[in-house]
Amino acid sequence: MTTAARRHEIYVVRRRQHFELFCEQCAAVAKFVTIDDAVLFSGFATREIVGLVEAGKLHFLETSGGHLFICRKSLAANQSAELTEGNAFQTT
Ligand SMILES: [Zn+2]
Repeated sequence: MTTAARRHEIYVVRRRQHFELFCEQCAAVAKFVTIDDAVLFSGFATREIVGLVEAGKLHFLETSGGHLFICRKSLAANQSAELTEGNAFQTT
C-alpha cells in the first residue's frame, strides 16, 4: 500500500481586492493584484501580462505554487508606455 502525499496551495483573494506589500523594484510599498485583476485594470490580455512579466517589465511576486501577483505601479507604467507608443487604439 502506498501513500501519496499531496500538496495543496490555497489562497483566497476576493474580487477587485488588492493587498499592499513592499515591492523591491519600486523600493516602496505597492498594491499587488492577481493576474485576473491586472487584466481588468489594464485592458491587457492575460497573455500580454505574462509576456510583460517574462520580459521583466512588470514587477511581480510568485508564490511557491506558481501564482503571480502583479505590482500595480509597474502595470500603470506599462499602460502609459503603450499609450505613448500609440498601440492602444489601433483601428485596423
Ligand atoms: Zn513595483
